[in-house]
Amino acid sequence: METIFTKIINREIPASIVYEDELVIAFLDITQATMGHTLVVTKAPYKNLFEVPEETLKHLFGVVQKLSVAIYKAFDAKGLNLLNNNNETAGQTVFHYHVHIIPRYEKDDLTL
Ligand code: 5GP
Repeated sequence: METIFTKIINREIPASIVYEDELVIAFLDITQATMGHTLVVTKAPYKNLFEVPEETLKHLFGVVQKLSVAIYKAFDAKGLNLLNNNNETAGQTVFHYHVHIIPRYEKDDLTL
Protein backbone atom coordinates (compact mmCIF):
# COMPACT_ATOMS: atom_id res chain seq x y z
CA MET A 1 0.00 0.00 0.00
CA GLU A 2 1.28 3.46 -0.88
CA THR A 3 2.15 5.73 2.04
CA ILE A 4 3.13 9.36 2.41
CA PHE A 5 6.76 8.15 2.42
CA THR A 6 6.30 6.55 -1.01
CA LYS A 7 5.14 9.95 -2.25
CA ILE A 8 8.38 11.47 -0.87
CA ILE A 9 10.46 8.70 -2.51
CA ASN A 10 8.69 9.36 -5.83
CA ARG A 11 9.12 13.14 -5.44
CA GLU A 12 5.36 13.64 -5.45
CA ILE A 13 5.60 15.67 -2.25
CA PRO A 14 8.62 17.63 -1.00
CA ALA A 15 10.93 16.68 1.85
CA SER A 16 14.39 17.67 3.02
CA ILE A 17 16.23 14.61 1.76
CA VAL A 18 19.64 14.10 3.35
CA TYR A 19 20.62 10.70 1.93
CA GLU A 20 19.45 8.23 -0.69
CA ASP A 21 20.65 4.97 -2.25
CA GLU A 22 19.01 2.03 -3.99
CA LEU A 23 17.45 0.60 -0.81
CA VAL A 24 16.86 3.46 1.61
CA ILE A 25 16.14 7.17 1.80
CA ALA A 26 16.60 9.60 4.72
CA PHE A 27 14.87 12.93 5.21
CA LEU A 28 14.09 15.34 8.01
CA ASP A 29 10.98 14.50 10.02
CA ILE A 30 8.35 17.17 9.41
CA THR A 31 7.76 17.43 13.18
CA GLN A 32 11.40 17.90 14.33
CA ALA A 33 11.04 16.41 17.83
CA THR A 34 14.49 17.95 18.25
CA MET A 35 16.69 19.85 15.80
CA GLY A 36 18.00 17.40 13.19
CA HIS A 37 15.33 14.70 13.76
CA THR A 38 15.73 12.44 10.73
CA LEU A 39 13.90 9.39 9.40
CA VAL A 40 15.66 6.54 7.61
CA VAL A 41 13.11 4.72 5.48
CA THR A 42 13.16 1.60 3.29
CA LYS A 43 12.32 2.42 -0.30
CA ALA A 44 10.16 -0.69 -0.55
CA PRO A 45 6.92 -0.19 1.39
CA TYR A 46 7.46 -2.78 4.15
CA LYS A 47 4.97 -2.03 6.88
CA ASN A 48 7.17 -2.78 9.88
CA LEU A 49 10.23 -4.56 11.24
CA PHE A 50 8.57 -7.94 10.82
CA GLU A 51 8.41 -7.54 7.03
CA VAL A 52 11.89 -6.17 6.31
CA PRO A 53 14.35 -8.70 4.82
CA GLU A 54 17.47 -9.16 6.93
CA GLU A 55 19.88 -7.91 4.25
CA THR A 56 17.86 -4.72 3.80
CA LEU A 57 17.75 -4.21 7.56
CA LYS A 58 21.54 -4.68 7.87
CA HIS A 59 22.08 -2.14 5.11
CA LEU A 60 19.61 0.29 6.67
CA PHE A 61 21.30 0.13 10.06
CA GLY A 62 24.68 0.78 8.45
CA VAL A 63 23.16 3.96 7.02
CA VAL A 64 21.54 4.76 10.38
CA GLN A 65 24.94 4.56 12.07
CA LYS A 66 26.71 6.75 9.49
CA LEU A 67 23.96 9.36 9.51
CA SER A 68 23.79 9.33 13.32
CA VAL A 69 27.49 10.15 13.53
CA ALA A 70 27.14 12.89 10.90
CA ILE A 71 24.04 14.42 12.54
CA TYR A 72 25.54 14.20 16.04
CA LYS A 73 28.59 16.13 14.86
CA ALA A 74 26.80 18.59 12.57
CA PHE A 75 24.31 19.68 15.24
CA ASP A 76 26.78 19.45 18.12
CA ALA A 77 24.32 17.15 19.92
CA LYS A 78 24.98 15.87 23.42
CA GLY A 79 23.14 12.55 22.99
CA LEU A 80 21.07 10.66 20.45
CA ASN A 81 18.07 8.32 20.45
CA LEU A 82 17.18 5.73 17.83
CA LEU A 83 13.48 4.89 17.73
CA ASN A 84 11.44 2.45 15.69
CA ASN A 85 7.71 2.05 16.34
CA ASN A 86 6.08 -1.13 15.04
CA ASN A 87 2.29 -1.23 14.80
CA GLU A 88 -0.31 1.17 16.11
CA THR A 89 -0.11 -0.31 19.61
CA ALA A 90 3.53 0.80 19.76
CA GLY A 91 2.79 4.29 18.43
CA GLN A 92 3.45 3.77 14.71
CA THR A 93 1.56 6.33 12.63
CA VAL A 94 3.10 5.85 9.16
CA PHE A 95 2.97 2.20 8.16
CA HIS A 96 6.14 2.18 6.07
CA TYR A 97 9.27 0.96 7.86
CA HIS A 98 11.47 3.71 9.29
CA VAL A 99 13.94 4.44 12.05
CA HIS A 100 13.97 7.81 13.80
CA ILE A 101 17.34 9.43 14.51
CA ILE A 102 16.72 11.95 17.28
CA PRO A 103 19.68 14.05 18.39
CA ARG A 104 19.47 15.14 22.01
CA TYR A 105 20.51 18.41 23.64
CA GLU A 106 20.88 19.59 27.20
CA LYS A 107 17.43 20.48 28.56
CA ASP A 108 15.61 19.71 25.28
CA ASP A 109 12.56 18.58 27.32
CA LEU A 110 11.77 15.69 24.98
CA THR A 111 10.08 12.68 26.55
CA LEU A 112 10.01 9.52 24.45
P1 5GP B 1 5.93 6.95 13.50
O1 5GP B 1 4.94 7.59 14.42
O2 5GP B 1 5.22 6.10 12.47
O3 5GP B 1 7.03 6.21 14.21
O4 5GP B 1 6.65 8.13 12.77
C1 5GP B 1 6.13 8.77 11.64
C2 5GP B 1 6.83 10.10 11.51
O5 5GP B 1 6.61 10.58 10.21
C3 5GP B 1 6.33 11.17 12.49
O6 5GP B 1 7.39 11.58 13.34
C4 5GP B 1 5.85 12.29 11.58
O7 5GP B 1 6.18 13.58 12.05
C5 5GP B 1 6.55 11.99 10.26
N1 5GP B 1 5.84 12.42 9.10
C6 5GP B 1 4.50 12.22 8.83
N2 5GP B 1 4.17 12.77 7.64
C7 5GP B 1 5.32 13.32 7.15
C8 5GP B 1 5.60 14.02 5.94
O8 5GP B 1 4.74 14.27 5.09
N3 5GP B 1 6.88 14.45 5.77
C9 5GP B 1 7.86 14.19 6.68
N4 5GP B 1 9.08 14.65 6.40
N5 5GP B 1 7.62 13.52 7.83
C10 5GP B 1 6.36 13.09 8.06
